Amino acid sequence: MIEYEIPFVCLIFTTLIFLLFFTKKKVELEENYYFQNVLIFTLSVNITNFVSHYLASIYLVDTIDNWYAPVFAIINKLGSLFIVIIAFNVMSYIFYISFEKYRKKFNLVKKVNYLIFLIIGILIFLLEFEVYKIGSITSGKGPSVTLTFTIVFFNLIAALVVSLINIKKYDKRYYSIYIIIPLIILLGIFVMFHPEFNIYDLILCLLCYLMYHTIENPDVKMIEQLNIAKEHAEKANRAKTDFLSSMSHEIRTPLNAIVGFSECIEQATTLEEAKENASDVIGASNILLEIVNGILDISKIEAGKIEIVNATYSTDELFDSTAKLIKARIGDKPLDFRVNIAPDIPDVLYGDKFNIKKVMINLLTNAVKYTESGYVEFKVSCVKKENICRLIISVEDSGRGIKPEDIDKLFTKFNRFDEDRNTTIEGTGLGLAITKQLVELMNGKIVVQSVYGKGSRFTVALDNRIELEKVENKEVSQDLDLDLSGYKVLVVDDNKMNLKVAKKVLERYNLNIELIESGFECIDKINNGETYDLILLDDMMPKMRGTEVIKKLKQNPNYTIPTIALTANAISGMKEKYLQDGFDDFLAKPIEKQELYKVLYQYIYKKNNGVKKVVEIKEPVVEQKPVQPIENTETLDLTGKRILIVDDNSLNIKVASNLLKKFNPEIESVLSGQECINKINNGETYDLIFMDDMMPEMSGTETFHKLKENPNFTIPVCMLTANAIEGMREKYLSEGFNDYLSKPLKKEELIRVLTTFLK
Ligand code: ADP
Repeated sequence: MIEYEIPFVCLIFTTLIFLLFFTKKKVELEENYYFQNVLIFTLSVNITNFVSHYLASIYLVDTIDNWYAPVFAIINKLGSLFIVIIAFNVMSYIFYISFEKYRKKFNLVKKVNYLIFLIIGILIFLLEFEVYKIGSITSGKGPSVTLTFTIVFFNLIAALVVSLINIKKYDKRYYSIYIIIPLIILLGIFVMFHPEFNIYDLILCLLCYLMYHTIENPDVKMIEQLNIAKEHAEKANRAKTDFLSSMSHEIRTPLNAIVGFSECIEQATTLEEAKENASDVIGASNILLEIVNGILDISKIEAGKIEIVNATYSTDELFDSTAKLIKARIGDKPLDFRVNIAPDIPDVLYGDKFNIKKVMINLLTNAVKYTESGYVEFKVSCVKKENICRLIISVEDSGRGIKPEDIDKLFTKFNRFDEDRNTTIEGTGLGLAITKQLVELMNGKIVVQSVYGKGSRFTVALDNRIELEKVENKEVSQDLDLDLSGYKVLVVDDNKMNLKVAKKVLERYNLNIELIESGFECIDKINNGETYDLILLDDMMPKMRGTEVIKKLKQNPNYTIPTIALTANAISGMKEKYLQDGFDDFLAKPIEKQELYKVLYQYIYKKNNGVKKVVEIKEPVVEQKPVQPIENTETLDLTGKRILIVDDNSLNIKVASNLLKKFNPEIESVLSGQECINKINNGETYDLIFMDDMMPEMSGTETFHKLKENPNFTIPVCMLTANAIEGMREKYLSEGFNDYLSKPLKKEELIRVLTTFLK
């Protein structure tokens, strides 16, 4: 039974491992080379054993004196050679993973091995292999077999010794050796007593199995995917670096001019000279703004965030306004500006007029910029098919033209040609890149024809739907003047310069403008019942960001003041983010007149139906509280009393101190809850503490609770907060505070508290 069945089962098992190993993508590792040999020769041993024993079960049943006995010997000698090769490979594998330093010499070892195999092979074949039978089992013995066993034994012992030397490495690659060699020894002893059990195949099979699972064989497929991902990331990173370095260069250039000319203004001796330099500063600032806007446009387009907003529009109005703008731009440049709008263009079309205008303006501005004399022609014609009108917009000039080799790069970001001639011409190298992408987003095409030195023609083809109805009147008038007197706007920005600019641009609307520098102040004001018609709220402020402020404000369900995010963080996707955060709209800094106008128009003028507001002067609402009889101020003398004010806003501390000073107490102040705790823990004592609640790191309430953890803390603590909405007094008193004062501080209230606790 067991004569050929075991080799057969092992043959199937090894074949499976063989298939698994060779069908999987592998890294070219030396370890794999040795394992691959072990696997191939194990499979060979399984085959020779199976075949020889299967045939033996047929031909050597009764006698071994027939033709098959020598064949059996030859096949088994071949099997012996394979076993020796396996043993050598196992040993080499162990040596390879153990002696990293000598790895380079392994090629030589391999060559020596081949020589050894040859000699051993010859010896195995020359030496005697005696075929014998135990019961029904055929087996072999004699010098050939002894030689095989001896070589295998020494190989495995060497592998075991080296593995044991490395036992402390806890390297899983040795595990197969730790298991297989003692097993071989045990089985060897077992087979010595029961030679009828042909279990060499089993041992080899087990060896393959263990090595397969312990060999270092990384998942190549995963590595390939990781490599692809890495390449993508590197490419993106390179593109980003290139983009940043060109941006830095582009931005520095106008900045340099701004700084330089501003210094000139500072040192100018005449008004004339200062004015001249100021106009250069304005010019450079406009270029800077153009660059930033260009970058924003590009980033929006590349992030797929640009919106193509189709609506019905009047073609006359679109082309006229574009032509007017360009005429103004030409100024007194000696250019013949030819406008040629085909009369058969439908009056009303359905498309994205803002982006069409942007495309036309970009092309026309370039034509004007790069043409010294001659003409610029703005031509629009159309081809109509059913309800689709294909607009063919062409901008031709008799300017400098573009070299044929530059045409391909024309629509790439930051590419400007003829730099030596370009230095005097404003530009960013972004215009055409944006133009092309916009045209493609609108499913159009743009082509360029140019003869260097003679002129260029850019042609855009765009399909728009023909509409029969009339276009509604423009919603937002282009006239940027509105009288919003009586309406109140609050601007919150930590940067004084920005506040100054905001005030300047808002002043023309006759608004009542209030400027503050932090989100805390804003929350205080709203909680104190101040109302505004609009709040422009900067996002990037230290301590509390605009997004946090709006969240806090919106916690009050009655908060309805339109709040606009005012930020320089104007990259693509930001508008959506701000709307999600709860803002009503978004204004990018520097504030563009047109954009500000739109916001004011929508959120003040339109919201109030254009009604002018009469300025209301509200009497401050005085809280009704259980009031203690107010002592005569003159009699309140707090000399020797120690008061601590805890507030993160130094301005608030200044206000409170000024009020308290009159009563001669000793006043100390700290800017955070932690500092207050430190003082108390250091043994400082006070007669009264005024504690603000909304502080960035640790709120006043939290500080108070921490102080109260100490059972010896008995100093009265009065909450002094801008959080003055209804129910707050009760809330703070229930928290354990001894009293409550709301900001802005009222003198009478303060005296009441001082008399209660310090008299
Ligand atoms: P910018 O004009 O801001 O440099 P653009 O992307 O609009 O950037 O144009 C890229 C370059 O293509 C320009 O710098 C200029 O060299 C060339 N170019 C564009 N339009 C014209 C034109 N009408 N005639 C000649 N050269 C042009």
